[in-house]
Amino acid sequence: MDNLTNILTIKDLLNRHGFNFSKALGQNFLINPSVCPRMAEYCGAQKGVGVIEIGPGFGVLTHELCKLADKVISIELDKRLMPVLSETMAEHENFKVINEDVLKVDLHKLIEDEFKGMRVVVCANLPYYITSPVIMKLLEDKLPIESITVMVQKEAAQRLCAKVGTRDSSAITVAVNYYSEPSLLFHVSSGSFMPAPKVDSAVIKLDISQEPRVQCKDEKTLFKVIKGAFAQRRKTVVNSISSSLSLPKAEVESALTQNGIVSTARAEQLMLSDFAKIADSIYERRVNDA
Ligand code: SAM
Repeated sequence: MDNLTNILTIKDLLNRHGFNFSKALGQNFLINPSVCPRMAEYCGAQKGVGVIEIGPGFGVLTHELCKLADKVISIELDKRLMPVLSETMAEHENFKVINEDVLKVDLHKLIEDEFKGMRVVVCANLPYYITSPVIMKLLEDKLPIESITVMVQKEAAQRLCAKVGTRDSSAITVAVNYYSEPSLLFHVSSGSFMPAPKVDSAVIKLDISQEPRVQCKDEKTLFKVIKGAFAQRRKTVVNSISSSLSLPKAEVESALTQNGIVSTARAEQLMLSDFAKIADSIYERRVNDA
């Protein structure tokens, strides 16, 4: 079915399937016809590429992805959408839907089973209530994927694509930069959705790096340090890390100064390499003390 941004088509589907939008599941469906073709193009859907989509809804983006990619596997939590997708996606033989919570799916196995010999990308208009957990799962699972192209709330896009070491950066900015190179592609107004959400949105792309973008001795410690440093972002890094990680202040202070970082620094002033150096010093001391 080709005209899934048409209000009359959507109303007809809603009526015939007795479907109503679930706010709890973040169901704001795209009705702006220019957005999905652009997302499908930007995400790199093409011959030889398999796409994982999260939350197909009625299939408006899925349809564009199926036109370009070799195969599209969509993960949708809402069981009520299964009969709708059977109808709207009937013409696409390269489409399959998995009725599960994306946070519970074994994506390594999915890629192995479904995308043999294909390059893999992720493309989605994300349910906003789980933006951060989904992005972090996709990154932390270290999947063999090339990129993640997703629509998120405008504010989340700004946070995710902020430059590390600037005021707009936060723990998730630094974490995302460890695994990928983020870029903001384009903005989408709230009127592009049905029902219209209260906030505007933006499409971002995370190009996954082959190797982490900085070396560190222990990733767990690095992420604890990043989280700890931003936990009380108005405080100095020394105070915030020492209280969040329950470490002596002197130990954290020396982890900074021995790496040439001033002890009065705040989290938003540090670069990814600074966090790695601090984490390495803390990790080494813990290993040596053990
Ligand atoms: N792709 C459609 C579009 O662009 O119009 C719908 C996008 S809508 C913002 C988010 C979709 O994610 C909904 O279909 C919703 O049911 C689904 N969803 C919500 N939570 C989910 C979860 N945990 N796992 C998989 N899908 C989920």
